[in-house]
Amino acid sequence: MPPGLPGWRRAACLGCTKVVSEARPPWVVIAGSRDGTHLIAFPTGPERGASTFDPYDPPTDVFILGVAHEDCREPAAERLRKQEISLASELPRLSFEPFPELVETFRRPHSDRERCPFCGSEGPLTDEDIFPVWLQKAVDDWAGQTLRGPGNPWRDYLVPVCSNCNNRWMSTLENDTSKVIKGMLVSASAELGESDQLCLATWATKVAFLLEYWSTSGQLPHEFLVGLAVWSRPPPGTGVWLGAQSPTAAMTAKIDWIPGTDGDEVGPVGLWVTFSVGTLVFLVLTRFDGRYAAPTSHPLVAQAMLPLWPPTEGVVAWPRDNLSLGKDGVGVLAEVVDVTAVMP
Ligand SMILES: [Zn+2]
Ligand SMILES: [Zn+2]
Repeated sequence: MPPGLPGWRRAACLGCTKVVSEARPPWVVIAGSRDGTHLIAFPTGPERGASTFDPYDPPTDVFILGVAHEDCREPAAERLRKQEISLASELPRLSFEPFPELVETFRRPHSDRERCPFCGSEGPLTDEDIFPVWLQKAVDDWAGQTLRGPGNPWRDYLVPVCSNCNNRWMSTLENDTSKVIKGMLVSASAELGESDQLCLATWATKVAFLLEYWSTSGQLPHEFLVGLAVWSRPPPGTGVWLGAQSPTAAMTAKIDWIPGTDGDEVGPVGLWVTFSVGTLVFLVLTRFDGRYAAPTSHPLVAQAMLPLWPPTEGVVAWPRDNLSLGKDGVGVLAEVVDVTAVMP
């Protein structure tokens, strides 16, 4: 399957020539004229593309030229303009049609349960574990008990997603995350490099968003779910922190909304999810207005919670300063976190 068409798997990046895998976003499809004078790249965000021409008045011959890592967009455009890439003689044509409702739809919560919350596909949809089986098993091994047996509440946290999302980008994310978390559960401390921090933050955001979606009273705008899938990192307005606890329960979760501050008519302005997995305590705050929450006014949060996202450079140590949230990290954070504070 030519890269960029539904079903493509792997292709050489038009920028760096290394492999781009469909299952490992972020990447973009690059289309345009054969000589590179007109170019368009998409998706660069949930409802976004970037083009060198007016997409409402596109040139006549626009072809799908290939794919590139998101970071390789500029080098790819440069190589296409210099005609350094030998393109296939037959290329799929790209057509343009106006879609005026799209932006408005994306700003509303995803409510159509017959479609995948990440890509909008009609499926086939399958029920996906929010707390995946690898995690339930790892926590079993760590806690010396069976979460997976009858009565395990975590098995009921299921959401319908399409097989393409499930088997590709979500599967890649689960694989990457399982390696990091399994090691942390066993050793109870870790040095987290930048890729580990990105992986944990993206995964925790996925768990938070799916818990919110599962709750069925969801308020999260659809573009945040699409953004997570497109960028494979927490969308703008999302902060992720990681703490440590000496747990009495193998897994706990709490989902809430950030209240508006301008009176009762204003609905929630964001999502607030705390969940624990063994000794790990994740805090995910997503503001729908794209600003970043600053829950660190309480000294315990400032000292004990390691910021995972937005990213900090270099390797960080977990637990932070060997400070623990105690036995019930989720409960402690519910008491002390000021979720309405924002970064200046
Ligand atoms: Zn590349
Ligand atoms: Zn999907």
